[in-house]
Amino acid sequence: MSLFRHIERFGHESVTFFSDPASRLRMIVAVHNTVMGPALGGCRMWPYAGLDEALEDVLRLSRAMTYKAAMAGLPFGGGKAVVLGDSKREKDDALLLAVGRAVGGLGGRYIVTEDVGMTEADMAVIARTTRWVTGRALSDGGSGDPSEPTALGVFAGIKTCLEQLGEEPTVRGRTLAIQGLGKVGNHLARLAAAEGAKLFVSDIDSARLERAVTELGAHSVMPNAIASVSCDVFAPCALGGVLNEKTVPALNCRIVAGSANNQLAEEVDGDALFSRGILYAPDYVINAGGLINVASEQSPGGYDRERVLAKVRDIPQTLSRLFQRARTEAAPPFRVADRMVEERLAEAKKQEPGSSSQ
Ligand code: NAD
Repeated sequence: MSLFRHIERFGHESVTFFSDPASRLRMIVAVHNTVMGPALGGCRMWPYAGLDEALEDVLRLSRAMTYKAAMAGLPFGGGKAVVLGDSKREKDDALLLAVGRAVGGLGGRYIVTEDVGMTEADMAVIARTTRWVTGRALSDGGSGDPSEPTALGVFAGIKTCLEQLGEEPTVRGRTLAIQGLGKVGNHLARLAAAEGAKLFVSDIDSARLERAVTELGAHSVMPNAIASVSCDVFAPCALGGVLNEKTVPALNCRIVAGSANNQLAEEVDGDALFSRGILYAPDYVINAGGLINVASEQSPGGYDRERVLAKVRDIPQTLSRLFQRARTEAAPPFRVADRMVEERLAEAKKQEPGSSSQ
């Protein structure tokens, strides 16, 4: 019974465990919500310490996908898969083909895409055993790397945040502190530098750091100091849980807006940001560009870059509406975002065949 209680805590529709001893596949697929459409979300391969850790991860990640897709107005629900294992040592074609067979067995209720430990090339292998896969390379007719649309959405969202504080919607002359110069952080740094922002950057990869310093004139900061740099905007583009009981009191910015998923370690950390008067753009609202990109591959006409960019340009409006309502309700925007999604899902649920309210 405790397993059911665990699952019911987040309101999941189903959690399925897959095992394929021949390929050593051990996988959990969590379908959180399909009211808006089939559950879409990445497959993460990670050397989890145990089943409990893997289950907790897949439950949290799949729920977040429901919120991200619903807020972006996409016809998809939230789901996620986790494969227990080390992708560097244990991932091979046999395992990926077994992932495809497992996903196929769910009959389209869950559509798999890449995540940590999985690549575009892996999606092409998985596509040999299921059609419920997305996020393949452009050369395979897929949507390719989602990080540029993600960065464009974050950059536009930062300007919305500035406007919200009564300023011009430009980063010219503003100071940004970017944590992580990976695929998204690097794009974001380039966009901001091109518009005349002053940049502070950090990364544990010294080559990435050096490139931003020499090519963009950015100031390099130690990883443990980036969150407390004096700046207009702190942009977390590396890890989850970066807004926590240690960092929030030390922040020296007016806005937090970045691409990282699950930035708040706990909800109380979001409340603490609000109490400090720091405007926080909820992660799943501002970083939806990647999901919009990958979802486009599933649309009837196939991937369409122009349509993706048009939808990414909606992110600032979504954020504006959210901030407006948060102001009216005098509530933290991250809590209002959750409520907006939950209202949307409840409304859509009422329209389902067999719903008690019909
Ligand atoms: P990435 O792996 O390419 O980049 C992450 C970067 O962060 C790396 O350069 C890494 O060295 C650096 N890093 C790790 N730990 C750090 C630390 N302690 N301090 C400073 N830097 C550190 O990942 P990405 O695709 O750029 O994604 C960045 C974040 O945005 C992730 O949280 C990801 O889940 C999220 N996200 C990405 C996309 C996308 O389209 N790629 C979409 C939505 C959300």
